[in-house]
Amino acid sequence: MSSASVKKIDTNHIDPSKLPDPDYGPPPLPAGFPRWKYFAWDGWQMEIPVDWDLGAIETGPKGGFFRIDDEFEPRILIRWQPMRGQFDTRKSIERHFKTHYPAQKGQGPAPEPLIGASLPGLSKPFRELDYETYSVMLGDQRAVGVAAFCSKCERAFIIEMHLTEKGGAGERLIAKVLASLTDHSTSEKNRWEFFGVSCDLDADLNPASHSFKQGRIGFSVTRRGQRVNLDRWTFADIHMAKRDLKGFLHENLLKKRNMPYCSIDESEIMGHPACLFYTRKKLLDPLWKVLRVIFRLREPSYRCGYIWHCNTSNRIFMLVLGSNKHKDIDHLKSIVEDVRCCKVIY
Ligand SMILES: [Zn+2]
Ligand SMILES: [Zn+2]
Repeated sequence: MSSASVKKIDTNHIDPSKLPDPDYGPPPLPAGFPRWKYFAWDGWQMEIPVDWDLGAIETGPKGGFFRIDDEFEPRILIRWQPMRGQFDTRKSIERHFKTHYPAQKGQGPAPEPLIGASLPGLSKPFRELDYETYSVMLGDQRAVGVAAFCSKCERAFIIEMHLTEKGGAGERLIAKVLASLTDHSTSEKNRWEFFGVSCDLDADLNPASHSFKQGRIGFSVTRRGQRVNLDRWTFADIHMAKRDLKGFLHENLLKKRNMPYCSIDESEIMGHPACLFYTRKKLLDPLWKVLRVIFRLREPSYRCGYIWHCNTSNRIFMLVLGSNKHKDIDHLKSIVEDVRCCKVIY
């Protein structure tokens, strides 16, 4: 490089008041990179920007809550609860504010929502719902929300979006997210999608548990006599450098989940190396059947599952089916077919 092409900047003469504000936002995504992805959980589904994901979730028979965050802060909050009879949308907004945004000592009055705000994106998903909108300033941040009642699933819910985008960008975001929202299953299968896991499962399977840890996430769903667990690990290449899939399976499942009586066969899933495993038949099988009925044991008698190494996404997936049928492989296969393991982010 010639010395003439190097321009020395004289930092002594930079006027800080003339510099643009620093940008603390995430770096722009490369051209052609998908901007949107699904978030889906037990019938809830919506499209969200690709760099947002689940921040918190609680579900139970009395309702639930989840929060979707960007890299820095909460962006979408959804709360729902079963509801029968009369639903007053306006009152539910007031209750929401009373509970979640009460007046704080020394911080001025509690935020006052403007009820009946004009929001884009509502025409399709909210067509059959009884709903009311609002907008509010939370400090210097604008938030908008919709309180709705769905007579199909007999649930009331509130969706609230916190906006850091100004003007048109904020409106486009509201329109895209709200227009994509569904609050209950619309087909025989529900999509489940978060933290890079993407699959479809029978809609009558209910969420039973979940665990989100660095490097490993998993969740399980159940219905009478059946349980499905899906786990995925990141950095598969590091796990596989030290041991093979069978070794990994022993360390992570057979030892920890108390499943010692397992047969393991080598297999293949969607072109990826895999292991098929299943618990063996118990010697006292007929007796167990009787005891299960007497004691109303809900946990299925047998397990079978696949563990596979998806090189495309550098992840290990494990799907376990708990069933009262021994070696219920055909059923297991039909579930595995709906796991999108190679799908990394969108
Ligand atoms: Zn519904
Ligand atoms: Zn794959």
